[in-house]
Amino acid sequence: MSKKKYKAHAARYEKMNYRRTGNSGLLLPELSLGLWHNFGLNDDFKNARNLLKCAFDNGITHFDLANNYGPPYGAAESTFGKILKKDFRKYRDELIISSKAGYDMWDGPYGDFGSKKYLTASLDQSLKRMNLDYVDIFYHHRPDYDTPLEETMGTLDLMVRQGKALYVGISNYEPERAAQAFKILKELGTPCLIHQPRYNMMDCWVEDGLLDLIEQEGVGAIAFSPLAQGTLTDKYLNGFPDDSRAVKDGRYLNTDQVNEKLTKIKALNKIALERNQSLAQMAIAWILKDQRITSVLIGASKTEQILDSLKAIDNTSFSDEELTKIKTVLQ
Ligand code: NDP
Repeated sequence: MSKKKYKAHAARYEKMNYRRTGNSGLLLPELSLGLWHNFGLNDDFKNARNLLKCAFDNGITHFDLANNYGPPYGAAESTFGKILKKDFRKYRDELIISSKAGYDMWDGPYGDFGSKKYLTASLDQSLKRMNLDYVDIFYHHRPDYDTPLEETMGTLDLMVRQGKALYVGISNYEPERAAQAFKILKELGTPCLIHQPRYNMMDCWVEDGLLDLIEQEGVGAIAFSPLAQGTLTDKYLNGFPDDSRAVKDGRYLNTDQVNEKLTKIKALNKIALERNQSLAQMAIAWILKDQRITSVLIGASKTEQILDSLKAIDNTSFSDEELTKIKTVLQ
């Protein structure tokens, strides 16, 4: 096995555009890489390592994790910690690493939701697994309506004051709860950096108030599952590949869900080809056309997918006619 040390591509920053995150000082790449899938204990370590190198070589400086990414829970952070040690140590100051807590993580009443007890312990565990002194962004992963928002946001503020996180964000919060969270964080002196919602052609809930809110409040937005977990690509056009998420995993995406959308996927694929883009590229470009979006948070099981998706940034403008055609398909 080659023992050659990884050296990042010299021209990596020329290949990517960076957008300002809300009103903050932080720039994020137009594409970021998430480690929800493909970094678990049963996934191929060499492939995981190649995915991160491929991303970074192309200017993707932001890697997104959470306490419970795996399987099992925690495994993605442990895998990431190992790869960081092997390949990325000297690049730490060129990386934006995020983690989250808010979904179930460990047994008992202190391993879920939004209490100070849970979030504090979880970030300490995440730092240990990744062998980091701090994360760049720490998120509360989902709203918790039973814990006072002052407690959850106060904990995020404390993490920043303790130096365990540089910035904080929230994920999956609807506009009303998000507005309350932004207000509390502002009063505490730790403004919310970013909101992480699901946003793709098949799921546009953020257009109903959330994007207006984040713009008004100077908060950034990073869209997760931009390809609807692989549905918005050409991979399911001619059947179900054995190595696809819908076949291989099934926890969050199954073949029935894909089948339901197949007519729309085929029509969208036709529009993408007319634009000289793959469907994945068009789906990502369609999100990036809105300047309120700071970054699109992709997943990938193969380096080829990262390379394909990256080409989205070459054309993120749409004619009115194209937008109307897309809208008609999505109705
Ligand atoms: P995507 O919608 O980008 O789906 C990624 C999957 O699509 C890949 O794993 C691959 O699946 C397939 N794919 C990717 N690129 C291509 C391509 N160019 N051509 C064909 N197929 C492709 O994102 P995810 O659903 O994976 O989510 C991305 C990230 O968002 C997560 O890793 C996580 O960081 C974050 N996230 C956050 C959540 C939250 O609550 N805050 C919830 C969910 C995700 P295949 O295995 O079939 O090859």
